[in-house]
Amino acid sequence: MLKSSGFGLMGLGLGGCTAGSSTGRVGYVRPVRRLEPVDAAWERIIRTTVGLRPYRPSGFVLRGERLGDKLIIHNYGHGGSGMSLSWGTGQMAAEMAVGRAQRQAAVIGCGVVGLTTTRQLQRRGFDVTIYTENVPPNTTSNMSLASWTPTSGLVDGDRRTAAWDDQFRTAARIAWTELQLLVGRGYGVSWMDGYSLRNAPPSADGGRGSELLPADLQPGSTVYGPGQHPFPTRYAVMRPSMRIEPSIYLDRLVADVRGVGAGIVIRRFESRRDLAALSESVIVNCTGLGAKALVGDEELVPLKGQLTLLMPQAGVDYSTFGAASPMAGGFVHMSPRSDGIALGGTSVEGDWSLDPDPDAMRRIVDAHVDLFSRMS
Ligand SMILES: Cc1cc2nc3c(=O)[nH]c(=O)nc-3n(C[C@H](O)[C@H](O)[C@H](O)COP(=O)(O)OP(=O)(O)OC[C@H]3O[C@@H](n4cnc5c(N)ncnc54)[C@H](O)[C@@H]3O)c2cc1C
Repeated sequence: MLKSSGFGLMGLGLGGCTAGSSTGRVGYVRPVRRLEPVDAAWERIIRTTVGLRPYRPSGFVLRGERLGDKLIIHNYGHGGSGMSLSWGTGQMAAEMAVGRAQRQAAVIGCGVVGLTTTRQLQRRGFDVTIYTENVPPNTTSNMSLASWTPTSGLVDGDRRTAAWDDQFRTAARIAWTELQLLVGRGYGVSWMDGYSLRNAPPSADGGRGSELLPADLQPGSTVYGPGQHPFPTRYAVMRPSMRIEPSIYLDRLVADVRGVGAGIVIRRFESRRDLAALSESVIVNCTGLGAKALVGDEELVPLKGQLTLLMPQAGVDYSTFGAASPMAGGFVHMSPRSDGIALGGTSVEGDWSLDPDPDAMRRIVDAHVDLFSRMS
């Protein structure tokens, strides 16, 4: 067994599972505790949800724009990472506004990005009104798996710039701390062990975009080799991570922004002209995929994702991910929450349909039925 920290698994070369570590520490690694297998069965399905992640190959947009005497701050396009990063980009957006003499602000959008941006503005003394077409539970944010995945489906490595990387790292660092401070306070944010299941030794582990994330923004991992864990794969790499329960979290954020006096006005905006007609002198655009039509951002594209929920199951307090079963036919993941056991593993670029894909559902459910039937 082997313990390493951060992205120390990259290039580690586990050859034969020798004890060792990227930081030079060798020694005791706690055994895998008893893990309750998921009761994965077709009869236990309670619903399938679909959401469209707002993806931009060159990454999220975080910048100010003058519109007459108004300042519009764009804060959208967080792809598969909005639940992770929103406190960070929200704070950075709010700081762009603090120089304004007027303290009235409009936030457009009431998903996770709009709600956390509103809180960050309120903390800086702004009186905020949220204008939005939809509110929770009818936002993309409600359809999220919502783990700490700050680089997932966020940016195409070839399109990144040094300036954007700096924005990302600042946002990730702020968000990492903010989310930790919500654990245990009724926001549905908690720490949970996650097991990456794989047959190949994790010598080249780390994942897409991993060099973007500073190593101290996630806990270290523990590698379990053959015979050292209950899963039917050769290796299981355990890393604790934060997860968010979207329905609890978003309702709590709505209550928080209202508690500090924010109004919520149901309204759809069609153009920049609509925005310019608002009375507030600061307007923050947190419309996610809606920014494509609203401000003509042609780079925005949906990454369709769907989750199939099984009945809640007491005792399942860990997540799994990876192509664990030959039936997976690609990446799949399981994460438990109080409203059900969420099974997923889809990301279809350019698909605007909000209908569940039955083939994807079959692949994902069958893979988990197979995985958990073979767990010891
Ligand atoms: C299956 C799935 C799994 C995911 N897993 C994770 C994960 O594990 N970790 C993670 O960090 N992220 C994850 N995400 C991504 C995350 O959910 C998104 O990045 C995030 O929800 C985007 O938030 P948002 O506030 O920008 O958008 P939204 O939640 O879509 O909110 C946009 C708001 O703007 C409003 N709006 C839009 N257009 C207009 C308009 N013209 N006029 C008025 N109002 C408008 C909408 O009504 C809405 O209120 C996942 C997403 C999906 C679908």
